[in-house]
Amino acid sequence: MLATGGRVRVVQGTFEFCGGLLPAGLARLPQSCRFSAITLGHVILGVNSQCLDRLRAHEQVHVAQYGRWGPFFLPAYLLSSAWQLCCGRCPYRDNCFEKQAYAQDDGR
Ligand SMILES: [Zn+2]
Repeated sequence: MLATGGRVRVVQGTFEFCGGLLPAGLARLPQSCRFSAITLGHVILGVNSQCLDRLRAHEQVHVAQYGRWGPFFLPAYLLSSAWQLCCGRCPYRDNCFEKQAYAQDDGR
């Protein structure tokens, strides 16, 4: 991201990257797959700094989840989404990790 004009800053123990080619790349994704920010361990990628500021509390919950689950987080996250989809629910909003992140984020 930095090589394509993006920026990085260290906030609350994470590297937050934004800008660069990410916004243009996301615009090419199908609407249902687009996101404003995503957490990968202690790295948070955001479309821009305003998104990172707005979504920081939510993404910090995912950072904590990564810390708790380690390498099992991503498979567990995907399994939760698959289970919700099989049950006819939303694979994103009904994912147990997202529910926890939204519950803690909404409470602030
Ligand atoms: Zn989330």
